Amino acid sequence: MYPFWALRGNGLWEVGEIEGLALTSGGRRPTLAALNEADPLAGLPEDDFKLLSQDAEVAAWIAGSVLLRFFNPLPPGLLATVGLEQLLAGRIDTSLRPRVGEPFSNRDTIADAYGGNRVLGITPLADSILTAYSDDKGPYADKQIEGTDFIAYTGDGLSGDQHMRGGNKSMLLYQAEQRALRYWHKPHRGQWAFESWAVIVECHRRWGRGEDGKMRREFAWVLAPVASPLRHTWPQHVLDALAEDDGLVHDHTINAPLDETEGAEVLSDLDRYRQLAAAAGRTASRRTQRSRRTEVDRYFRSPAAREAVIIRSGGTCENPTCLGHSTERTDAGAPILEVDHVNDLGRGGADIPEIMIALCPNCHALKTRGSDRRRLTAALLRTARQRHQAFCDGTF
Ligand SMILES: [Zn+2]
Repeated sequence: MYPFWALRGNGLWEVGEIEGLALTSGGRRPTLAALNEADPLAGLPEDDFKLLSQDAEVAAWIAGSVLLRFFNPLPPGLLATVGLEQLLAGRIDTSLRPRVGEPFSNRDTIADAYGGNRVLGITPLADSILTAYSDDKGPYADKQIEGTDFIAYTGDGLSGDQHMRGGNKSMLLYQAEQRALRYWHKPHRGQWAFESWAVIVECHRRWGRGEDGKMRREFAWVLAPVASPLRHTWPQHVLDALAEDDGLVHDHTINAPLDETEGAEVLSDLDRYRQLAAAAGRTASRRTQRSRRTEVDRYFRSPAAREAVIIRSGGTCENPTCLGHSTERTDAGAPILEVDHVNDLGRGGADIPEIMIALCPNCHALKTRGSDRRRLTAALLRTARQRHQAFCDGTF
C-alpha cells in the first residue's frame, strides 16, 4: 500500500488526475504501473496548506508532535534535511499543546480541544501520547512520595484486582521504552490541568481499596516529573532512577491483607509474619545511604513492616512492663497500638520489624517523653529483637 493513498482515504492528502487509473485490490487502489505512468500531482488539501503555511505556531505544533511520536530521540541532521530547522530549532517541546499548566473545567473540554477518550484514566490524546489522569476526589488520591518529587500513581481499574491490560499495559510499555507521558491532575473541587510531563521509573503492586471499598491488588506507577518529553532535558536523578529500574513489577501483595482474606489462602500468623518481614527486609539490607530510591522503597515497604509488627503483637502492647490499657480497641475493633521504630536514631535506617515495636499510647508516651526513656528504649529494642527472632524460628 502506498502511504499517501491511505492518507487520501482519510482526507489528509489530495491526489489529482486519478480518473482512468487502472485499479487493483478490488478497486481500492491504483496499480503501481498506472501511478508511475500518470505521475499525478498530489498535496495537502488547500485549507490545511494555508493554515500550515500562514500560522507558524500551528505548523510547529504539528511538526513537533510528529517528531515526538516517530523520531524521538531526534536523529542528528534530520531537521535541516527536511527543512524544519528554522521552524523548530530549540522548540520542539514548547511548541506542543496542550501547554503545561493549561486548565480545563472537565474531561469533555479536554477531549473537545485535544481529542482522546473522555472517561478512561490512562489513555492517549489525539496526538497518541499517553495521558495519566489523577483525580483527587475520594480518600485514595495519588500521592507524592515523601522525601522525593516522585508521584505514586494508582493504575487503571476502579474496583477489584487490577490487571496488566488496558491502561496498565500502556504504562508498562512507556516504562520499558522510557517515554514521557502527560500527567494531568485535578485537586479536590479544583480544575483539571496538564500538570507535568513524567516518566515511569518503577512499578509496584500493593494492596489498596477499590472504589467499592473492598481490598484489592493494584498497581502503583512511580512517576518522575520532567520538564519536557525530550530526554536531554531530564535531570540526572531521573536518568539515574531510569538506569536503576529493573523493569519488574515489585510485588508487595504476596500476602493476604490484614482484614480480608476472602478467596485467598489463609496463612498462620507465623507464616504471615515471616513473609511480611521478608518483604520488608528485601530491599532494606541493600541500601545504606538515603536516596530517592530509598524513600520510594520505604514508601511501599512501611505498610508490610507495620502489618508484621501488629501481627507479632497479637493486638497487645509489646512493652513487657506495660501497665496501661494494653488491649484497648478502636470503634472498628482494631488494636489501639502505635507501631514505631524503637530507637529514633533508627529513623534513617530501615523499616524492618526487628527494630520496630507496637506500643499502647501510654507506653509510647513513656518511651518518647518519660524520664526513664533511655533505659526503656534499650529494653524495648531487646524485646523487639527477641520477639522477632522467636517468630522467625517458630518458637514463639
Ligand atoms: Zn503499653
